[in-house]
Amino acid sequence: MERAGLHPLRSTGITVFQINVGKLCNQICRHCHVDAGPDRTERMSRETAELCMQALAQTDIPMVDITGGAPELNPHFRWLVEQARGLKRHVMDRCNLSVLLLPSQADLAEFLATHRVEIIASLPYYKGPQTDAQRGEGVFDKSMEGLRRLNRLGYGAPDSGLVLNLVQNPVGAFLPPKQDAIESQFRKELRAKHGVEFNRLYTITNMPISRFLEFLIESDNYEAYMARLANAFNPAAAAGVMCRYTLSVGWDGTLYDCDFNQMLDLPVGAGAPRHIRDFNPAQLQQRIIVTGNHCYGCTAGSGSSCGGAVTA
Ligand code: SF4
Ligand code: SF4
Repeated sequence: MERAGLHPLRSTGITVFQINVGKLCNQICRHCHVDAGPDRTERMSRETAELCMQALAQTDIPMVDITGGAPELNPHFRWLVEQARGLKRHVMDRCNLSVLLLPSQADLAEFLATHRVEIIASLPYYKGPQTDAQRGEGVFDKSMEGLRRLNRLGYGAPDSGLVLNLVQNPVGAFLPPKQDAIESQFRKELRAKHGVEFNRLYTITNMPISRFLEFLIESDNYEAYMARLANAFNPAAAAGVMCRYTLSVGWDGTLYDCDFNQMLDLPVGAGAPRHIRDFNPAQLQQRIIVTGNHCYGCTAGSGSSCGGAVTA
């Protein structure tokens, strides 16, 4: 990092306001870095959601990225979307697709389309067995149904303005393939076999934390995987890591550099406010990022971020 002129790693200004509304999820995926699931009770309160919107209103941050868990299951999710759209911000929902089929969420797809919310949906692979191995039995078929439901509303159609992007991560302890190549493969297969359309496919690296870390240790892959990440360190990817332009708010209002630091209980460093109630954009825009070994996941190969590969 020093040789690349990147030490200490600093924020370059906040363009993404990420809100993690909690750990409740209808799935229990093997690679989940949030350790989310149906029995998790951590969720953002209305009071904290209001503090988030008050903070956002003080800025011109263009992008609001709502994540979880399954963010749509938080009772304040729709309020957050409406408020952020009212402030004329672009809103992204990190959607697991199967949530769209829950009886309690029967009108969710229409809600998202009405508010022109961009959808980022995880799909580890375009085949059922590999996806189900990582995300649970039957999840692939539900994901296809969810995607077709979104397509029927115009999501994924080139000129509709309703953006549907997929996120792919390796089904195992290796680095993601080249984003453009795997995107073409996904498009061909999903269109031909499932009648599904999408806009872009992002590849992300599995981060060595939480459930994926447990898998690495149990399968005796930890050291080899970390060496693979470290040996693939790419200064260009390091320069573009997402923490440099993101502020990530936890379900209880604590401020983090990214969602991964959030899961590791590593709040923003000294000198920056640590809770959304003390939000101060000037201080946060100059903060030094808190880094650790897990950051090699973001800097390996073409890099990895919430928006996929960092470099071509
Ligand atoms: S990876 Fe996403 S869908 Fe799977 S358990 Fe975690 S939050 Fe839920
Ligand atoms: S894991 Fe590290 S490099 Fe990646 S976004 Fe978070 S702080 Fe930045």
